[in-house]
Amino acid sequence: MSQSSASQKYSAVSGIQHEEALLFEHAHEAAESINLPGVNRDVPASLQSFARQTPANIPGLSEPETVRHFVRLSQWNHGIETGFYPLGSCTMKYNPRVNEQVVRLPGLAHIHPDQPEDSVQGALALLHELQQWLGEISGLPHVTLQPAAGAHGELVGLMIIRACLDARGDTHRKKVLVPDSAHGTNPASAALCGMHTVELKSGPDGRIDLEALKQHLDGDTAALMMTNPNTAGAFESDVREICDLVHAAGGLVYGDGANLNALVGVARPGDMGIDCLHINVHKTFSTPHGGGGPGAGPVAVNDTLAPFLPVPRIIKNGDIYQLQHSHDASIGPVLGTPGQIGVLLRANAYIAAFGRNHLHKIAEDAVLNANYVLHRLKGAYDVPFEGHCKHECLLTDTIQNRHGVKTLDIAKRLIDLGFHPMTVYFPLIVHGAMLIEPTETESRETLDAFCDAMLEIAAQCEAGDTQALHDAPVRPIRRRLDETQAARNPVLVWAD
Ligand SMILES: *Cc1c(COP(=O)(O)O)cnc(C)c1O
Repeated sequence: MSQSSASQKYSAVSGIQHEEALLFEHAHEAAESINLPGVNRDVPASLQSFARQTPANIPGLSEPETVRHFVRLSQWNHGIETGFYPLGSCTMKYNPRVNEQVVRLPGLAHIHPDQPEDSVQGALALLHELQQWLGEISGLPHVTLQPAAGAHGELVGLMIIRACLDARGDTHRKKVLVPDSAHGTNPASAALCGMHTVELKSGPDGRIDLEALKQHLDGDTAALMMTNPNTAGAFESDVREICDLVHAAGGLVYGDGANLNALVGVARPGDMGIDCLHINVHKTFSTPHGGGGPGAGPVAVNDTLAPFLPVPRIIKNGDIYQLQHSHDASIGPVLGTPGQIGVLLRANAYIAAFGRNHLHKIAEDAVLNANYVLHRLKGAYDVPFEGHCKHECLLTDTIQNRHGVKTLDIAKRLIDLGFHPMTVYFPLIVHGAMLIEPTETESRETLDAFCDAMLEIAAQCEAGDTQALHDAPVRPIRRRLDETQAARNPVLVWAD
């Protein structure tokens, strides 16, 4: 591809206006950033026919050029280590350095998933310990660490529920009830699992409406998927009754555990009647997961669902840790390895740093911080649902709409003021949603600085000084992107 056509394609899609962003298109034909050893040296003769015959179509750049390219990109980014990142539902908390020290220990960093069990006893011990922790924290004692993300956990959890229903002879139960406030992955996972979803309309307080639930519960119901606290930051206070109703109708309750940060160490989904829960360890238990990964979504289940958990299972036999590869009723393996070890070990380190007696501080401080932000911003911003929030607070742009300003303008202006925007336009149950999740790792000074910025935006709006809001962002290297174009026609590779 010629330089100019590559540049045009890139800028059309991502709005890039700065030539230096296109370093890869400035590649010289021949420069090499790395010298690979000759194929003869380490590859057995039998494998040499696999060697590529033509040079790879990759940019010809020297090592310093390559390093500068990536370091520059990293400097243009906003991460949890450069600033406040209150992205609701994502729990973007600070990732303690000690986690990184743990995962870089050579005995953990340099092992291979196919190594003999007796040579990875330490890693298996830590993973087993994490299983125990997650079982205790969730109140659902049987845990698989395999799922590679929250969404994968949803699919695995529903596969477990499916297997249980089938084993009971309830093969016809295919209906999954999903509140309209749910994360989009919930209905997607149900569909992937061969079930069909029915949307439950939320009540006027943003919570599950018991009457709507009763209307839809019947002999075809396989499960209810519920998120508690829900994506409006509200605790589903009827959770016991909701679970009882679903169980009485012969269904099971799936818990989306993405919001566990509001409960950890304080209350347990298993005690509330949830049968099966995924835990986004990359949210609740640190790990930087911006940009789509890495993550892990362990699934915890009660005694009824335990036989159906995936294999291999990490078990302790006397003093020895083992991978148990077969189990009659199991749904089978769901990942090529026992789990995403780096993310899981960081979660173990985060939990261990608090310890059993102090885990509750995570939830308490997260909830306190969210309520502090809510308290400072209400009045200036519309609060759709009354009362305290849990670990995140929900606002809307209704007040600002009177001046022609929308949630998107507010979010973009925050970038100019040095903050990562909150989650916007989610949950879908309110118009112009802004979902703010500060997490427990932020100081009062940071929360105040963020609230001051939000209040400054609201004041600008009231004063009719709205041009800066529509123009934002002006400070970062990118202005507003053509997001529709980027979603519909993404160019994800350097050259085709
Ligand atoms: C993040 C999230 C998910 C999906 O989890 P991933 O780990 O991103 O796949 C599901 N539900 C809710 C409420 C979430 O916030």
